[in-house]
Amino acid sequence: MELVFDLSRPGRHGVTLDALDVPEAPLPSALCRHEPAPLPELSELDVVRHFTRLSQRNVGVDSNFYPLGSCTMKYNPKMAEAVAALEGFRDLHPHLASAPVYEPCCQGALALVYDTERLLAEIAGMRAVSLQPMAGAHGELAGVLLIAAYHRDKGNGKDTILIPDSAHGTNPASAAMAGFKVVQVPSGPDGTIHLDRFLESLDEHVAGVMLTCPNTHGLFEADVRAIADRAHEMDALMYYDGANLNAIVGQCRPGDLGFDVMHFNLHKTFGTPHGMGGPGSGPVGVGEKLLPFLPGPRVVLDNDIFTFETPPKSIGKMAPFFGNFLIAVRAYAYIRCLGGEGLKAVSEGAVLNANYVWARLRKAYQPAFDGRFMHECVFTGAPQAERGVHALDIAKGLIDRGSHPPTIYFPLTVKESLMIEPTETESKEAMDAFCDAMLEIAALVESDPDALHAAPVTTPVGRLDEVRAARELNCACV
Ligand SMILES: *Cc1c(COP(=O)(O)O)cnc(C)c1O
Repeated sequence: MELVFDLSRPGRHGVTLDALDVPEAPLPSALCRHEPAPLPELSELDVVRHFTRLSQRNVGVDSNFYPLGSCTMKYNPKMAEAVAALEGFRDLHPHLASAPVYEPCCQGALALVYDTERLLAEIAGMRAVSLQPMAGAHGELAGVLLIAAYHRDKGNGKDTILIPDSAHGTNPASAAMAGFKVVQVPSGPDGTIHLDRFLESLDEHVAGVMLTCPNTHGLFEADVRAIADRAHEMDALMYYDGANLNAIVGQCRPGDLGFDVMHFNLHKTFGTPHGMGGPGSGPVGVGEKLLPFLPGPRVVLDNDIFTFETPPKSIGKMAPFFGNFLIAVRAYAYIRCLGGEGLKAVSEGAVLNANYVWARLRKAYQPAFDGRFMHECVFTGAPQAERGVHALDIAKGLIDRGSHPPTIYFPLTVKESLMIEPTETESKEAMDAFCDAMLEIAALVESDPDALHAAPVTTPVGRLDEVRAARELNCACV
């Protein structure tokens, strides 16, 4: 595809400026360029066509089935976009909130922050929530910093976090960034945490336990209450990685399961866009024990006026202002639109759809575990790999058949992992088309395994070097 620079023709332009109606005032020559900037010169239509074509080459949930496991790539309702585009939200300057003279100007926005935090707290059984963190991983960092602050305040010297081997890589990374030692706890053969091995690791040094529930094997941690009870006996705090909240939202609450602190991924559970790595939002929620340590300032209601307060032992700011405010607006609209019954239907639909995909594929692909999957199902492509077709080849073959690939090679505990999360927003027809493609690929593995090694063949570029862009970073455009 031609770059916008290739399309450029000298002298072509898309705008005509009005004639000057003030005296010309030249800039000091020392501040001027000696050569014009090498900008592309195009008509408006050239530009519209160029960017429309580019957008059509992008794969997103608006164009394709996107079953990326652990990421909950659900449809982002356009209603929430319309709400976030309201001038009263969109055009606010964040400094309005801290300038007392303007207070009446943004009481509505502060009310939205306040209400969204309260709604999330209620949904998860937490005492309070801060919208500040700007991604799930950022919420994790906030959460482990809260755990660190709690133990530092008690002066008990605890320095270790226990994390199962099925965890997302951000869990140990966040714990290490907060200064903790990380001890990994193995999963049992059934794919849930190995309780005896967990208890062996639980000693007086343990400050916290980070769990994902259901875990990244797609399985509910049935021992979660026992784990929480034993952790609490040792004054270790329980951290809930909320990435998989879509499986249980409206059914049960992390706070009731014994968790003391958690993050939400608004871009996973609450229908806001993932947006190419941002803007995301990873609010952090806490129970009673961590309330005094929450990031500040917080929006509080004082005599019917929204104002600010910083908790007494606050860990400080995790982000400027209130995090990604317009993402919170979308999540608020999503939650209010669905209500309690609607949120319950979300998790029911998510689990039903994942189990439908599992039921259609389990004869052709080997499920990684025997248990009942929740909102995502995990297969191992190890038998296919023995015939020379790896999870990567299956993923690339799916691109040619109209689907974004599922998550592959994660979790690390499963060989040749294929992790599929259809989400509640997909129709039976969309899931059937995906399952048909998966079954066609499974048949090809038997009849003509080589056919998959060239995939994808229908895309503008073929098989990319997956790591080169990261190893040889080159952001220069001209
Ligand atoms: C996505 C994910 C995270 C990190 O969330 P981001 O919003 O991508 O930073 C953490 N844990 C699990 C299990 C995840 O799937």
